[in-house]
Amino acid sequence: MNFKNNKPSRFGISLRYLLLGAAALYTVEASAQTKVNPNSQTSIGAAPAKGQKKSPNAPFVNKANMDLSAKPGDDFYTYASGNWIKNNPVPAKETRWGSFNVLRDFNINAVKSILNEASQNKKAAPGSVEKRVGDFYAAGMDSTTIEKLGYTPIKADLQQAAAVKNVQGVLDQAATMRTSGIGSPLFGFYVGQDRKNPTVMIPQLSQGGTTLPDRDYYLKNDARSTKIQEAYKKYITQLFTLTGVPQAIAQKNAENIFNLEKKMAAAQMSRVEMRDPYKTYNKFAVADLSKATSNIQWNSLMAKMKVTGQDTVLVNSPGFFKELNTLLTSTPVADWQTYLQWNVLKSAAPNLSSPFVNANFAFTQVLSGQKVQTPRWQRLSSQTDNAVGELLGQLYVKQYFKPEAKARMEELISNLVKAYEIRIKGLDWMSPATKEKALAKLHAFTPKIAYPNKWKNYDGLEISRSNYFQNLRNSNQWDYNEMVSQLGKPVDKTRWGMTAPTVNAYYNPVMNEIVFPAGILQFPFFDPNADDAINYGGIGAVIGHEISHGFDDSGSQYDKDGTLRNWWTPEDLARFKEKATALQKQYDAYTVLDTIHVNGKLTLGENIGDLGGLNAAYEAFKMTKQGKSNDKIDGFTPDQRFFLSWAQVWRGNILPESAAQQIVTDPHSPGEYRTIGAPVNMDAWYSAFNVKPGDKLYKKPEERIRIW
Ligand SMILES: [Zn+2]
Repeated sequence: MNFKNNKPSRFGISLRYLLLGAAALYTVEASAQTKVNPNSQTSIGAAPAKGQKKSPNAPFVNKANMDLSAKPGDDFYTYASGNWIKNNPVPAKETRWGSFNVLRDFNINAVKSILNEASQNKKAAPGSVEKRVGDFYAAGMDSTTIEKLGYTPIKADLQQAAAVKNVQGVLDQAATMRTSGIGSPLFGFYVGQDRKNPTVMIPQLSQGGTTLPDRDYYLKNDARSTKIQEAYKKYITQLFTLTGVPQAIAQKNAENIFNLEKKMAAAQMSRVEMRDPYKTYNKFAVADLSKATSNIQWNSLMAKMKVTGQDTVLVNSPGFFKELNTLLTSTPVADWQTYLQWNVLKSAAPNLSSPFVNANFAFTQVLSGQKVQTPRWQRLSSQTDNAVGELLGQLYVKQYFKPEAKARMEELISNLVKAYEIRIKGLDWMSPATKEKALAKLHAFTPKIAYPNKWKNYDGLEISRSNYFQNLRNSNQWDYNEMVSQLGKPVDKTRWGMTAPTVNAYYNPVMNEIVFPAGILQFPFFDPNADDAINYGGIGAVIGHEISHGFDDSGSQYDKDGTLRNWWTPEDLARFKEKATALQKQYDAYTVLDTIHVNGKLTLGENIGDLGGLNAAYEAFKMTKQGKSNDKIDGFTPDQRFFLSWAQVWRGNILPESAAQQIVTDPHSPGEYRTIGAPVNMDAWYSAFNVKPGDKLYKKPEERIRIW
């Protein structure tokens, strides 16, 4: 699995989408931007010495953040977080602002101080982690050189793209661009585990070729979509004119590129279809695929993509490749030239001189609503994390994470697994045969905590202090080579899909692993000095969420070894699907923005994750001393604090433009609905807040959905 390219910020907008489906990791939250809390006092690893009980995060449930005038049974979100929402608008340089973002913002500042120190350390030894990270950052911060260069770094690439003569030339140039780290035109490609035989790494082709965040953006013609389409064409026009192309020709290029990408978009499967691990599993002998797409000789093309000795390939969307095959000959070569040039331009724009950066931001604004550009140091901190994240991670954990934190986290995970086991055994809808398989899967989970046991050292990656653009290219190339080098080797189970400072977590079905980077192990998810209600309602529910991904509508199709293989009896599967459909309907009914509502099908896996996760966390919490007591803290019972902790993880504001995008592209429901979506199905929430018939969020006991 090419985790690296799963990050959206790398080449601009679309890579994450291209790789969705086959390469998806099941995360707890969407934003793959950056990272964690620097507040060393609140970090899980920086627990104060025994007996010292002070935490800057106390009181862990703060009434000043709540709106006590709201009735929990009518509007639990406002009750729990109303004043926080009112007092914390989205900052101008952000598109959303909630607990995840606050942690990321703290953390990006921590990373900044590490990077400043590393880049200014004159004594750092050549080749050392500090020297390489510092040089990467320093080169990117050298705006004088970057401005002077303008678009010089991509001139040769643009000329090469303009020189292709025929269909074979288009394919060859696309392969060169991919292996040189210039971009990923035409389609997506990565190397990952074979889902039906996960001990083997296999080349995988995925639909792609487009730029906008989803196929819908090309195919819909409502006002919101049309506005974005026009802005996109304007952006294309602008980047071409910045390289000296006359306005009229640049405009024509924009029309042609848009129309070509629209045809590719129309051939792509929807995100809901892409969530189906069987539908997206299409194994071809390379020779047979060449017969199905006669304009593409995959044997020679893959060799140009540095893939050798492979006679089979996985294709997530054969229909897309059929259409691409047709387009290759039905589209004039001149249009392919501009398309390839566009791929050079769009990948480079965020990293060139300011006219390019500004044009890129102007377009981003239309998509996301962001008011002002993120400062250079912050973009560079993220970029350093993207490019050499496991070098930066080594410096980060040295300063912000202590080994004893792993032990605390291990204990929490083990308690969550115990609780999950009890819950599986007690399920009234599942037969003993399926339960046995589910328990086997539960006990086969591999947890990974904080950071990799084995760091990637990027051996052979050249980093210069004076050439930022080349550093990026080198890094992309290094990633590509490292990815294809996995073919023919045993699966490396030590790999991580996120860097240590990341504020997120994931489940990876083919490894059957749950992964928690150091970044998320902080308040409001976790605080070593908080009561159990806070930690179980926070990080406990996150652990439960990731475990539940192994049992959601998609993850449950993989067995304990990560193989895509049915382990359910037909009756149990039918009952599971019925419950999932009920949950889908619950979320379909949530309206986000004028006519836009949550897509219950797209978000189903995440919502099953939340429901299963919060239930398991509650079960585990009830095994603790506090969970068994009724002693109030700051006026709240243990159960109330558990649910309020959950709620404060999901509080947040989002710009309307970003909300509209999220609903189309993000498999996670908006925070407001995550706050209430699981609790309204839990009897304990009703008792904790005295929710009664007639209250707006009330569901009759027999309508409450219980899955895991
Ligand atoms: Zn998730």
